[in-house]
Amino acid sequence: MSAAETVKFVLTEADLPTHWYNLAADLPTLPPPPIHPGTGEPVGPADLEPVFPMELILQEVSRERWIAIPGPVLDVYRLWRPTPLFRARRLERVLGTPARIYYKYEGVSPAGSHKPNTAVAQAYYNKQAGVKRLTTETGAGQWGSSLAMACAFFGMELKVYMVRASYLQKPYRRILMETWGAQCVPSPSPDTASGRRFYEQDPEHPGSLGIAISEAVEDAASRADTKYSLGSVLNHVLLHQTVIGLEALRQFELAGDYPDVIFGCVGGGSNFAGLTFPFVRDKLQGKDVRIVAVEPAACPSLTRGVYTYDFGDTARTTPLLKMHTLGHTFIPARIHAGGLRYHGMAPLVSHLYEHGLIEAIALPQTKVFEGAVLFARAEGIIPAPESAHAVRAAIDEARRCAETGEEKAILIGLSGHGHFDLAAYEAYLAGKLEDYEYPEEAVRQALAELPKVSG
Ligand SMILES: *Cc1c(COP(=O)(O)O)cnc(C)c1O
Repeated sequence: MSAAETVKFVLTEADLPTHWYNLAADLPTLPPPPIHPGTGEPVGPADLEPVFPMELILQEVSRERWIAIPGPVLDVYRLWRPTPLFRARRLERVLGTPARIYYKYEGVSPAGSHKPNTAVAQAYYNKQAGVKRLTTETGAGQWGSSLAMACAFFGMELKVYMVRASYLQKPYRRILMETWGAQCVPSPSPDTASGRRFYEQDPEHPGSLGIAISEAVEDAASRADTKYSLGSVLNHVLLHQTVIGLEALRQFELAGDYPDVIFGCVGGGSNFAGLTFPFVRDKLQGKDVRIVAVEPAACPSLTRGVYTYDFGDTARTTPLLKMHTLGHTFIPARIHAGGLRYHGMAPLVSHLYEHGLIEAIALPQTKVFEGAVLFARAEGIIPAPESAHAVRAAIDEARRCAETGEEKAILIGLSGHGHFDLAAYEAYLAGKLEDYEYPEEAVRQALAELPKVSG
């Protein structure tokens, strides 16, 4: 065997991006603005001020192409960034494919995923604005733990409303949050009016991301020292994640290669956007690259949802966002990729899909885990169940290349590791993992409850 099996494209600290890339600067048309559910008018900065600091509100609506990353944020990034890009030679060999497979690995952050890229930035801007305390929601706990770490760096308090089903079944990320100093309560909780509505009917209510968002927003809006922080979907969150794709572009230069196709998993869309938006920029300038979002068949907001204005949460407290949605009352099946169980998709990602700049596919979880185990046995890294969606899609593509002889370069967004998801792997290995049909009827019902707005 001649070629080295371990091929890794490592950037130095000097190569760490100094700016985030804002795709809005290069889009021929912008996504429709968020609108106020009461007035039907676009929301202005003043509407968002009770929950977000002004600096993040300005980023939300910015059309500047490059936004400087503040020094203290860069300083935290340097703990684990730049992250490595690997060539998956061993996986290529196992698949007998002529394709060149690469993966950009975000699991090297202390929280084990891409989420700290925005958590650190958000904690920083809130701290700068004099905010003492943040609130947020979390599903399986990836976001809550990332924000807990970020708040620890900047000396801020954090209260996390964690979906009760996960709180009970997945204690380890809760312990991470507590270790980093955050308070974590199961949602629905008795602590907010939106939580009590459900809690008083059923103290064992399993909760949902939508309910937890309502609780966190209500808490922040009702206290002067507190603001709210969201881990995906919004423009400023996607912006902060672009360090991933900017680094990947430079790493492909080092490799003397360029991806023909990129696969990223999508929940709310942030890791996908972070990896792919710098490549979307190239595509807008004529580069030939396919960009594919991979979602779970049990929560297929892009491939089966409708593109319309909807609430971000169950209690209808957020502005209306134009997005691909399964309806804000839709509660997806309890698949193991907890981070992909959101009813809506980021407006920017939805907009790209609507304009044919990206593609989307949906995969059932047994196929996803089959791909994840194959990947783990070849490359060592155990992918997060979310990331495994991108892994499986890439494996399928590489197998097609093996049939046709095409020598494509394939890039996988490996958004995190699966060390806190071993129960899911155990279920898969024991043959106990179920697939869920696309819930046609449940979605039809949820769509009937969409808010009525024109546009
Ligand atoms: C949260 C999470 C996701 C899904 O969120 P996006 O905003 O769509 O990126 C994907 N992968 C991992 C590892 C996550 O923790």
